[in-house]
Amino acid sequence: MSRSRLFQPFTVRNRRTVALILLMFALYSTLSVALSIRATGRSRHRAVVVQVAARQRTLAERYVTDVLLARDGMPSDPASTASLLSESADVLINGGEAPAVDGDDDETDLPPADGAVVRLQLRQAQLLVHDLIDTGNAVLAKESVDSLPERASEDITTDDPVQRLRILSAMTSNVSLNVARTIAVTTDENIAALIRLQMVLGAVGVLAALLLGWALIAAIRRQTAHFRSLVTASTDLVLVFDNNGCRYASQSVTSMVGKSEADLRGRAFAQFVHDNDQTMVQLACLRGQPREFIFRMRNRLGEWRDLEGHLTDLREDRQVRGVVLNARDITERVKLEEELTRHAFHDGLTGLANRALFRDRLDQALARSTRASSPFAVLLVDLDSFKEVNDSLGHDAGDRLLQEVARRFAGAIRVSDTLARLGGDEFVLLLDDGREADAEAAARRLLASLAEPVSVAGRDLTLGASIGIALHAGGPGDSEDLLRHADVAMYAAKEAGGGQSQVFRDAMGRELGEMLGLQHELRQGLQRGEFVVHYQPAIAIDTRAVIGVEALVRWQSPTRGLVPPDRFIPVAEASGLIHGLGEFVLQTACMQASQWGADGLLPENFVTWVNVSGKQLSAGHFSAIVRRALHAAQLDPSRLGLEVTETAIVTEGPSGERARDELKEIHDLGVLVALDDFGTGFSSLGQLRRFPIDVIKVDRSFIQGAEHDAKDAAITANVASLAHALGLVAVAEGIETERQLTLAHEFGCDVAQGYLFARPAPAHEVSALLAEALTVADTRPTS
Ligand code: C2E
Ligand code: CA
Ligand code: CA
Repeated sequence: MSRSRLFQPFTVRNRRTVALILLMFALYSTLSVALSIRATGRSRHRAVVVQVAARQRTLAERYVTDVLLARDGMPSDPASTASLLSESADVLINGGEAPAVDGDDDETDLPPADGAVVRLQLRQAQLLVHDLIDTGNAVLAKESVDSLPERASEDITTDDPVQRLRILSAMTSNVSLNVARTIAVTTDENIAALIRLQMVLGAVGVLAALLLGWALIAAIRRQTAHFRSLVTASTDLVLVFDNNGCRYASQSVTSMVGKSEADLRGRAFAQFVHDNDQTMVQLACLRGQPREFIFRMRNRLGEWRDLEGHLTDLREDRQVRGVVLNARDITERVKLEEELTRHAFHDGLTGLANRALFRDRLDQALARSTRASSPFAVLLVDLDSFKEVNDSLGHDAGDRLLQEVARRFAGAIRVSDTLARLGGDEFVLLLDDGREADAEAAARRLLASLAEPVSVAGRDLTLGASIGIALHAGGPGDSEDLLRHADVAMYAAKEAGGGQSQVFRDAMGRELGEMLGLQHELRQGLQRGEFVVHYQPAIAIDTRAVIGVEALVRWQSPTRGLVPPDRFIPVAEASGLIHGLGEFVLQTACMQASQWGADGLLPENFVTWVNVSGKQLSAGHFSAIVRRALHAAQLDPSRLGLEVTETAIVTEGPSGERARDELKEIHDLGVLVALDDFGTGFSSLGQLRRFPIDVIKVDRSFIQGAEHDAKDAAITANVASLAHALGLVAVAEGIETERQLTLAHEFGCDVAQGYLFARPAPAHEVSALLAEALTVADTRPTS
């Protein structure tokens, strides 16, 4: 469900309610203003009608005077008064323009009369006016009034025309007065009705507004409840801070610490934060910076939990006015990281430091020595005739032997010294502050610790060791050089019969020459085409189908025989030869994949994986090299995958930056990316999300260790689920036995690779394997 779909209904509903309320008010206001305007307009008209009606009274009186004056031969104009009277009487009934009267008002527009009573009265007034004018005319003509019609049926008994004129005038005045009175009364009634209507309208309006307002409040309540449930039901902790400390804590916070919200308010919140994190958290919540940090909080059981906090500064937001802290419990992730780090820096078999940690300690010792000119020593220990034990008594016996040796060595050194297992039967000791005499004494103690026989597999074995010592007098130096010197001295000790130690002397430097010779030979080998690429299949665990191959380079040296990559890749990297070598492998693998495709040997989604050294990535134009190789081989980018190690892309600084940029560019082409040897050089799981990765290859030490070590098993299972959580495919490397395959399957790995299925082999052997897989697939009944 999308977020916007979740929230929109609320917004729309509220807006509608508000709009409805506004519409109601607008409607009511318009209605009541219109009514008032109409009512005012009508009363104004009525006032004019009243005025004109009242004027009829004056006009009737003036007419009588005019007639009498004219009869007596005095100047006057009864005719025009008569026409004023009769026109006004018409207009009062039918509406129209009332004529102007001298000394009175201007012409006025009148509406036709409404209301039955008024019309009747006006009609009577009109008839009276006509009778009045008839009588006036008879008086002026000195005629009798007997025969005059009585339109208004006034029943006047007198024969005296003047008397009759006066009576008719008085009647006209009277009726006009009645008209005015009737109009005034209806106006009053109308106004009273209007007031009643307005009151009803007002009451209905208030009711409607109340109803709508109630609907609005209900909608807002619902929305608030929805937000509250989002906040409280969320497992994320939500806190709001202002200058006085914590102002709000969500239910998840209170249930985590087992206190009420009131117990967390203000400064009280700090007591649940770890002492070492308090200042940071307080400052961050005060300033809204930094946006992300990790801190520890005590839960109700008194355990410290690791939380990842995200700050949102809403101090300017009027609704919030505070800094919002969202925090998520990442304790399990941190634990996994610590486990991975432990695994990355410790040897799974013996629990000693591993090569990576040793290199780190050695670099630190060199840095100290550069500053303080302090001397130190490196002792490289190789067990004599361990290989024979391993071969004759088996790997398990060999493993137990190594564990016992590690235990004894650890008991023979000072805690300040670093003891590490470099791999196989090779151990190394870093002797802080050690001079030659100290180093030799330490070597003697190590050898003495092996004097007692070790009992393994029912046999008592007496082991010897050869120890090479490299001394660093103080000042700057190179860790590679030191290790190589110790190696040379160790070989010298071995040459001399074993069971002893030798201090490196410059005369032994011939071995260094050997190293340089190797570089020279590698260069020549590259020119002479002594390198070949072998391929190892990758198998989908659930279907057992071959879904890809990993290209692995081999060196067929005419003088050294078949040299494994572990021996020459580091030399190639150190000398820069890796660029030429890497490009050769990439081109060869692309060509081969394209050929397999053309031969119709590849199932859908088959990927050919090529190992890439960090040196190649950080050199800066690797994406162009990849594009060229794809183009030359006419290979679809999605058919190619690159395997890179964590160290190559996690590295800080400009070279790491370049490597990441190159990788992103290549990934954008559609080429897949795998993180190789996952778990051996690890820094932070959180970082994984930042890199363009499709596949995680879990280092073979995990799967192989998982057989004996519950911790390794737990890590592998976690790594696989983490990979899935990030949408990545998890590959288990180095599967040698069915049991390891079962474990890998149980841990949730999707793909497996290892000797159990196939060793790395030349292309033509893999072609045969692919062809065979195809025929098997073809003969399988389709379901
Ligand atoms: P890697 O990338 O971890 O390659 C897997 C190594 O594990 C290969 O060793 C392979 O032969 C070995 N292996 C496969 N299955 C099993 C198994 O079941 N058990 C055991 N014990 N080992 C297994 P290989 O070919 O000796 O290569 C060693 C390393 O050399 C590779 O490790 C890779 O880091 C590096 N490498 C190989 N070819 C190239 C290359 O073309 N370029 C670069 N830069 N590095 C390469
Ligand atoms: Ca690899
Ligand atoms: Ca690997």
